[in-house]
Amino acid sequence: MRAFSYERVSSPAQAVAAAARAPGARFIAGGTNLLDLMKLEIETPGHLIDVNGLGFDKIERTPDGGLRIGALVRNTDLAADVRVRRDYGLLSRALLAGASAQLRNKATTAGNLLQRTRCPYFYDTNQACNKRQPGSGCAAIGGFSRQHAVVGASDACIATHPSDMAVAMRALDAGVETMRPDGSRRTIPIADFHKLPGATPQVETELTPGELITSVKLPSPVGGKHVYHKVRDRASYAFALVSVAAIVQRDGSGRVALGGVAHKPWRVEAAERELPRGAKAATAALLADARPTEQNAFKVTLVERTLDAVLTDARS
Ligand SMILES: Cc1cc2nc3c(=O)[nH]c(=O)nc-3n(C[C@H](O)[C@H](O)[C@H](O)COP(=O)(O)OP(=O)(O)OC[C@H]3O[C@@H](n4cnc5c(N)ncnc54)[C@H](O)[C@@H]3O)c2cc1C
Ligand code: SF4
Repeated sequence: MRAFSYERVSSPAQAVAAAARAPGARFIAGGTNLLDLMKLEIETPGHLIDVNGLGFDKIERTPDGGLRIGALVRNTDLAADVRVRRDYGLLSRALLAGASAQLRNKATTAGNLLQRTRCPYFYDTNQACNKRQPGSGCAAIGGFSRQHAVVGASDACIATHPSDMAVAMRALDAGVETMRPDGSRRTIPIADFHKLPGATPQVETELTPGELITSVKLPSPVGGKHVYHKVRDRASYAFALVSVAAIVQRDGSGRVALGGVAHKPWRVEAAERELPRGAKAATAALLADARPTEQNAFKVTLVERTLDAVLTDARS
């Protein structure tokens, strides 16, 4: 692990000022992803800014009937919140499908959104990886690609985004609230927050250097039946091969977002028109541009079958 300096901050203004003073610095929250990456020297920040003292650990009602989730709310607390369980069941279920109880006690809302891919070549510093070392190539293309993306990938990177929580937030139309080093604030719609890899897979989100996530806002509840179904190689402590987050209304209309298939949570609003016609039609529309590899072509069928199970569950 490379040497780094460390400071604790107690206000968002202090946090962004510290980031502006030390280019390349990183915020640290639960540390469950960042510290692993630092130990492997995949991330080598010279300075860490500990944001745990910012007080962003509350979940509050917004004037429009939605919820504002502080950036530091732990995954366990978010999943257990009575308002989340009642009105945003999808989010609670997605969180509980992630990691382990121990990790969820530490992992934060912002850190979960910003966790990095689990592509094995990204973690193996002997392998070519455009995300870890831009311009070095992509060992997954032509390599072991069973877990990788089937849609929205590029010739530079076929990694997937590993978060369960982010898939639910995509279906819920969340907004990511931030503060920039100049003190300005903005809300980034979750649809635009994560990027597709294109030619620059190392650029994973819309955040600019030193931009701090302060909270995530959920719009007012939309009702319907909330189902999150995660398919993985073992029952716990495993990332999704495919996951389906769905909100289904009584008339058969609804929303669907997919995990494990792309570099970002995958939702195609136009495809949701096909939901009343069933999983086959909806999957065809959702994955119309799929370009799977030989090893992960099974994910297309897996999405269709998982969506079918989710729709059956939602209508029961
Ligand atoms: C064994 C294991 C299994 C796991 N399984 C799953 C799983 O099944 N599903 C799943 O979804 N996740 C899983 N995870 C990932 C886990 O959910 C993430 O590691 C966790 O959510 C990251 O949150 P954190 O607070 O620890 O982030 P940190 O590690 O502290 O930070 C992660 C990133 O976010 C940045 N950051 C943190 N806070 C802010 C902020 N306020 N503003 C701007 N940047 C910020 C940091 O700079 C860093 O780049 C697993 C992790 C492990 C280790
Ligand atoms: S898929 Fe992306 S993360 Fe994986 S090796 Fe290729 S460039 Fe790196």
